Amino acid sequence: MVTIRVGVNGFGTIGKRVADAVVRQPDLELVGVAKTRPSFDAHRAIDRGYPLYVAGAGAPEKFASFGLPVAGRLSELLARVDVMVDATPEDVGRENRKLYDAAGVRAVFQGGEEADVADASFNALANYETCRGKRTLRVVSCNTTGITRAAAVLLPRWGVAHWEVTLVRRAADPGESKRGPVDGILPTLDMPSHHGPDARTVLPELPITTTAVVVPTTLMHVHVNHVRLVRAPASSAELVAAFRSTPRFHLFAPWEGADGTPQVMEYARDRAGRAGGTTADMMENVLWERGIRVDGQDAYFFQAIHQESIVVPENIDAIRAMFDLADGPTSIATTDRALGLGRSPRAPLAKAPVPPAQRTAR
Ligand code: NAD
Repeated sequence: MVTIRVGVNGFGTIGKRVADAVVRQPDLELVGVAKTRPSFDAHRAIDRGYPLYVAGAGAPEKFASFGLPVAGRLSELLARVDVMVDATPEDVGRENRKLYDAAGVRAVFQGGEEADVADASFNALANYETCRGKRTLRVVSCNTTGITRAAAVLLPRWGVAHWEVTLVRRAADPGESKRGPVDGILPTLDMPSHHGPDARTVLPELPITTTAVVVPTTLMHVHVNHVRLVRAPASSAELVAAFRSTPRFHLFAPWEGADGTPQVMEYARDRAGRAGGTTADMMENVLWERGIRVDGQDAYFFQAIHQESIVVPENIDAIRAMFDLADGPTSIATTDRALGLGRSPRAPLAKAPVPPAQRTAR
C-alpha cells in the first residue's frame, strides 16, 4: 500500500486534531508538525511523539530552552513530506502557499483562507470526485462543511429549489479568551452572510441564502434550515432515514433526552472516554429526529456543528482525493473507521449488574 507522508503546519485547534487523525489512518504517515512558538500545545506534540519543527520567525533555541526538542525548521519538514496540511490562522495559509509551491509540496488549506488559495474547495460527501488529482485543496469552514454535507443528502434525492438557513454561531472556541460577546446577540448585518457564497465554491448551483447571528456559547453552532425541495419526500420519516443512512450524520432519537448542544457535547465526552480518546469531539452533523419535519415540498431541520472538529475527517479525505488513493465512499469509510465515528458499541461492563430477583435482602 502507498503511504503518503504528511506534515501539519499550525498546531492549534484544527491542526492538533488533524495530526491526531493522520496517525490513525492506514495509508498516511505523520512526519511532523510545525509551530512558531513554544506553548502547552508544543508540549502536547512532544508527548504524543510527533516530531516538532519550527515555523516562521520562531527560534529553535527558545523551544530547546523550555525542554522541547526540535526536529528542525519548516523547510526541513517540507523536504520530507508529500503534502502539508496548513492549519495556520486565516490569511497565513496564503503566504505559506509560496513556501509549499517552492518546495514542490501539495497542500490542504482551511476555510479561513479565501477560496482562490487552492485549486478547488472540498467537501467529501459533496464533491470528492471533482477534487481527485488536484495539487491543492481548501477544506471549507465548519459551517460550510455542515451545509454542503446536508446538501449532499438533499440534492440527489429530492433536488433543492430554495434553501434559507439562519446560522446561530458560537462566539468563541472553548480555549479562546479574547472573543465575544460574553453577553448579547450580534446579528451579522451583511446579508447574505458569507456562508451561502462559500457553499457555492463546492456546489456552484446551490440556491441557498444564509443569515447569521453570534451568541455567547462556545460549544457548537446550530443551523435553522428551511428547504423548499423540488420533489416532496413521502414523509418526515423518509427525510430522517436519509440523514440516518448517510455517514457523518448523527441523529438523536427523542427518547435519548438530548435537548440541545449541552447534551450533544456531554455525549461526545462520554464517547471519547469509551474509545480511550482524550479529545471530546463530534465530527458528524448532529440532528435531532424530532426537529426534522416535512410539509409538502418544504423541509425543516436543525443541525448542530462542532466547530473544533467537523473539518477533521474532511482534511483526511482531501489528502486521499489529491493523491487519488481511493474513491469517495471508500475514503470516507476508511477515515470514519479509523476515527471511530458513528455509534461505537458500548464497552462491556467490568462487573455485570445483579438482576433484582437475585439480590439478597439486607
Ligand atoms: P488556532 O489559532 O487555534 O491555531 C492556529 C495555530 O497556528 C496556532 O497554534 C498559532 O500559533 C499557529 N501559527 C500562527 N502563525 C503561524 C505560522 N506562520 N506558521 C505556523 N503556525 C502558525 O486556529 P484554528 O482555529 O485552528 O484555525 C486554523 C484554520 O482553520 C483557520 O483557517 C480557520 O478559519 C479554520 N477553521 C477553524 C475552525 C474553528 O472553529 N476553530 C473551524 C473550521 C476551520
